Parts: sequence; C-alpha cells; structure tokens
Amino acid sequence: THFGFKEVPAVEKENLVKGVFSSVATSYDVMNDAMSMGVHRLWKDDFVSGLNPGNPKVGVQTRCIDVAGGTGDIALRILDWAREKHADRDLSVDLVDINPNMLEEGRTRFRKTMYHNTPQVNFFVGNAQELSPEQFPSNTYDLYTIAFGIRNCTSVPDVLREAYRVLKPGGTFACLEFSKVTNPLFAQVYDAYSFSVIPILGSILASDRDSYQYLVESIRKFPSQEDFAQMIRDAGFHTAKGEKAWQNQWGGIACVHTGVKL
Ligand code: SAM
Repeated sequence: THFGFKEVPAVEKENLVKGVFSSVATSYDVMNDAMSMGVHRLWKDDFVSGLNPGNPKVGVQTRCIDVAGGTGDIALRILDWAREKHADRDLSVDLVDINPNMLEEGRTRFRKTMYHNTPQVNFFVGNAQELSPEQFPSNTYDLYTIAFGIRNCTSVPDVLREAYRVLKPGGTFACLEFSKVTNPLFAQVYDAYSFSVIPILGSILASDRDSYQYLVESIRKFPSQEDFAQMIRDAGFHTAKGEKAWQNQWGGIACVHTGVKL
C-alpha cells in the first residue's frame, strides 16, 4: 500500500510520520548509510563546518537547538566541532524530536560520549511546528538547525515561524534538506535510483518498504531551492540574494539554506 500523502489531512500525516520513524528508529542509522552509501555523513559534515559553531572565549555560551534531531547526528557534530576547532566546552545543544523512539536512540548514543551528563546536551520531545514557549522561550538561541526534518513536517511556515521566535536577534537558521537536482541528466539517474533501489533496500534491511517509499515521495514534494528560500524570507529572515541564499550539495540532491533573524 502507498500512503498517498497528497490526499490525507494534516493530523493524519503527522501520525503517519510518527509511525514511519517509530518503525525505523532502531535501523535508522544503518539505513541512512545504506541508502546514501555513506554520503549523508559528508553532507552533515559540510553543513556543520559551514556553520562553524563555537566560540573560543571561555564562559561565552553559544546556545544551539537542533530540531527534528533524531539520533543526534547534527548535535554531535556541532559539539565536536566547537570542542575541536574552538576548544569550546560551553556551547550547548538542545535536541528536539517529535518521536520518543528516535530521541531514545540519540540518548543511548550520547551515553558513550564525553557530553553525557554535562549541561552541553539536553533532549526534548517536541513538535517543530509548536515548540512549547515554557521549554523554548522566545529569543533564546544563537543557532537553530534542522537536518532532513522539515520535509516531514505538515506545515513548513509553522516550523519557520517557531524557528524565528526561538532565535535571538542575530541568530542563524540553518536547514539541510533533500532538494531538487538541477542537471536533467543527473536528475534521471537519481530518480531511477531513489524510486527503485531505496524501497528495495528498505524492505531488505528494515523489513519496511512503505516507510522508505514515503521518504522518497516526500523528497519529490518538497519545494525547490528558490521557493524554499522565499518561504524563509516570508518568515522574516534575512537571506543572501538569489542563488546565494543556498548551497547545493551533490548537484542539489541535498541543499543548505540559511537565514538570519535581524
Ligand atoms: N536530523 C537527524 C539526522 O539528520 O540524522 C534526523 C533526521 S530524520 C530523517 C527526521 C526526523 O524528524 C525524525 O527523527 C522524526 O521523528 C522527526 N520529525 C518529524 N516530524 C517532526 C516534527 N513535526 N517535529 C519534530 N520532529 C519531527
């Protein structure tokens, strides 16, 4: 069965998405590697190095929020980058995900790191579209990241509105997401790969073809680089002009968009 997301109402989509990630939580990291042949690691590395988080001054705390943070790939990279490049152990990351199973995988993973039981990392179950004002007050964060997460949200404008709210003035919004491949020939190869290989990999490795079919379809429906940049501006963020508002990775398979709250 196919989910046929175009027809389902928002609430149902939200439940479906929860189901997808609950059923893939434990195999999620293995699947990511298999589907992207390990390349998602490079995209995530580039994403974080481009943001260059951290501050060498002792006692200056950079506050980050990683939304739809899942098993913590981005949070861990941010913490490592700050420590390795800036000797910064003051930076903190609040990791937020709607799915407790994914968050639990993240917690387990962090237990084996030096950040475990430090104020540098905190976990929250929460919805990107309506972050609780008590847990996440306005004007709190220097950096908001969302990687391969916004596509799964029912309302992108709601996510952007919340991102804008929780960032401090001068704070940065940064999104890593699958996007549109610009070269038509490469687009054909990529389409063939994602519509045939990925659902098959899903059924073999995770016994869950539908969840991965959903992932492929959700990628197709996400707005183009231009349209998404405009949505970021509509939410009030300042972005660079034209195509400078984003950086394609691998011809647009993935893409980084950034914006600043002024
Ligand atoms: N950022 C991680 C990474 O790059 O590995 C996880 C990405 S995973 C593809 C997408 C995550 O988004 C899942 O963990 C899912 O539970 C979460 N998610 C989906 N809808 C959400 C929402 N409305 N609010 C918060 N998280 C959500």
